[in-house]
Amino acid sequence: MIGTDKRRRVHAAATGRPEYVNGWKNRTEAMLTIKQMRYLVAIADQLHFRRAAEIMHVSQPTISGQLRDMELKLGAQLVERSRSNVLMTPLGKEIVDRARIILAEIEEINDLAMRGQGSLSGTFRLGILSTLGPYLLPHILPSLHEKYPDLRLYIREGMPDAQVQDLEDEIAGLETRLSNLKEEVGNLEKAVTQKNNEIVDAQGLIKKYEDQQKNVRNNREFDSLSKEIEYQNLEIELCNKKIREFNVQIEEKRTVITESDTSLGERKSDLDNKKKELDEIVTDTKKEEEGLYKKSEKIEILIEERLLTAYKRIRSNARNGLAVVSIQRDACGGCFNQIPPQRQLDIKSRKKIIVCEYCGRILVDDEIIQESYL
Ligand SMILES: [Zn+2]
Repeated sequence: MIGTDKRRRVHAAATGRPEYVNGWKNRTEAMLTIKQMRYLVAIADQLHFRRAAEIMHVSQPTISGQLRDMELKLGAQLVERSRSNVLMTPLGKEIVDRARIILAEIEEINDLAMRGQGSLSGTFRLGILSTLGPYLLPHILPSLHEKYPDLRLYIREGMPDAQVQDLEDEIAGLETRLSNLKEEVGNLEKAVTQKNNEIVDAQGLIKKYEDQQKNVRNNREFDSLSKEIEYQNLEIELCNKKIREFNVQIEEKRTVITESDTSLGERKSDLDNKKKELDEIVTDTKKEEEGLYKKSEKIEILIEERLLTAYKRIRSNARNGLAVVSIQRDACGGCFNQIPPQRQLDIKSRKKIIVCEYCGRILVDDEIIQESYL
């Protein structure tokens, strides 16, 4: 029987990328958990399910179930099981290597926190690989903040300024919404006034017709005036109905306005705090930055103007400010979209400048970066 698992694997093998299926809405949900990475490392170390389970203090079905889940998420086989032994697939081996790095980073963060022995405070700045961020942050940050409320942890990768940007966008959105709502209320109030005027007019007419009825020459004239009066009374009734409807709408919109005002105030104070955070970081890194700017000014003179302009344009468009990125795990280091093998070869050949077709960043091979550090 070809199960869905197998089909997913086949698809993944054909496209060369993990299949995010059914429940997994996005990249993050399709990721291995830290616990799963520990299980996988245990399996690789022991090459034996029962022993791996013992080491992890879980049952054997738990560990093989988790392995199946990992393979599903990644859309690839990590372990070859035969009757007598367990073998890691080449991909499984590679993932275990990477998992060890991630787990070591996590250990380091925990050590860092432990060293403070409950009195960890002050500001820490942490440089984190962009590929590790999504693993580490959701797991580590909440418990760290709980244990050490005085600890201020900054994760590099342009986080605060991205947050400031997000908040500014949100505030702009709320302000637009508020001004629209206020305009709508204004229009409704005008409509109420309009209807009130119509009522006054109708009452004036009724008064006039009633006076005329006192001087009619015959019944027909009297009846025709009665009809007019009846009609005006209906008009007044209709106006009152409309006014009631408008007032309900005004009431509703005012409630929304009050709520939006509150959250706008909250967002604005969030923004103030984030900006302060950002300012602190900027001040702290200013010296370093100035040095780098001086260096870049010197280098700029040596570079063709056309290239420099292009570089600066890419840099200002890139959200994290990186114009040049390397290829990490077959993906663009800026936007994490997969780069096809042929393109990777072109990049490695260094014959021309190649940009990522998704984000426009300049792609280079890893070795160039290593060389430039030397
Ligand atoms: Zn890209």
